[in-house]
Parts: sequence; C-alpha cells; structure tokens
Amino acid sequence: MSRSSRKPHRSANAPDPEKVGAAKGEVRAVYEDLAARPAERDCQSRTECCRFRLTGRTPQLTRGEALVAAAGWRAAGRKGIPEDNASDGACPFLGKNGRCGIYRDRPFGCRTHFCAAAGGMLERAAIIDLIRRLETVDETLGGDGPKPLLNAISEVWDDVTKSGKRKG
Ligand code: SF4
Repeated sequence: MSRSSRKPHRSANAPDPEKVGAAKGEVRAVYEDLAARPAERDCQSRTECCRFRLTGRTPQLTRGEALVAAAGWRAAGRKGIPEDNASDGACPFLGKNGRCGIYRDRPFGCRTHFCAAAGGMLERAAIIDLIRRLETVDETLGGDGPKPLLNAISEVWDDVTKSGKRKG
C-alpha cells in the first residue's frame, strides 16, 4: 500500500467522534443546569479550593468531564498537560496569576465543592440528578468511574489531541 493511500490510523479503542461530541454536549448541559440552580454562593476567587493539600480533597472527574476540561485546556493552544509538581499542592491548572486555566470548562467538583467562605459544599441530595447524568455519560464512553483530576485528564489527552487534528 502506498503512503498516500493509507487511511489515518485509528486504534480499536479510539472513541467515536460523534459519541464524544454528544458526551461533551451533555456535560456542558449539566454545568449549565447546575448554574441555573438557586444555590446562594459567593465565590471570591480565593482559590483555596484549588490547593488540594490545604483542602485535603482533589476533584474527581468522570470521563466526560475530563474530555471537556482537556478540550478547554487545549483550546488555548497548549500542547501538553501541566506537570503535577507544585510544592504547595496547588492544582496543576491553577495559573501563576492565581486564576483557573480551564475556568469555563472546570469540572463539576470545582463548581460544587465551595470553600466555607463561599458558602460551603453543595449538598449531594441537591445535585444527585446531575451526578447521575455525568455517571451515565461516563458509562457511555466506557469509563470506569471518577478519577483524580490530573489522572482523568491525562487518560483522555491523546484522544482530544487527535480529535483536534481531525477537525483541523
Ligand atoms: S480545575 Fe480550576 S477550579 Fe478546579 S481546582 Fe484546578 S484551578 Fe481550581
């Protein structure tokens, strides 16, 4: 077979682009529905919740959330995911300017685990329907449940990069 007649390589495990697109759409719809809930919170961008050593909690992402977060990170032209080497335990996506590098696409946990100053964590009962929707997306994508933020995004990074190349 000549080089020019070869089709782009797609592994047996490569995700179906249509399925991925639908999954990202549903995750973003969940985020919009959450934002529309009448939960009074006052985030002052202290970014304490972005310092995992301080909070003792790392956001756990389903596969769909990871795809959205990775796509958001890549959309700004980033070629790779950041290293987890902050000496203060800060999230790798927290910029030196103190702002989240994927704010619009930040995971569900970052939208619900507010610090005490912002009003505290949302009760699970108030958002369980949204959690179930994210779990359903995870199953659709063949995920195996939530994973720590950097692990989850690392797992999907190659897929997001390849899908970006396919779209040009
Ligand atoms: S993803 Fe963004 S909002 Fe979430 S912990 Fe990291 S820097 Fe903070």
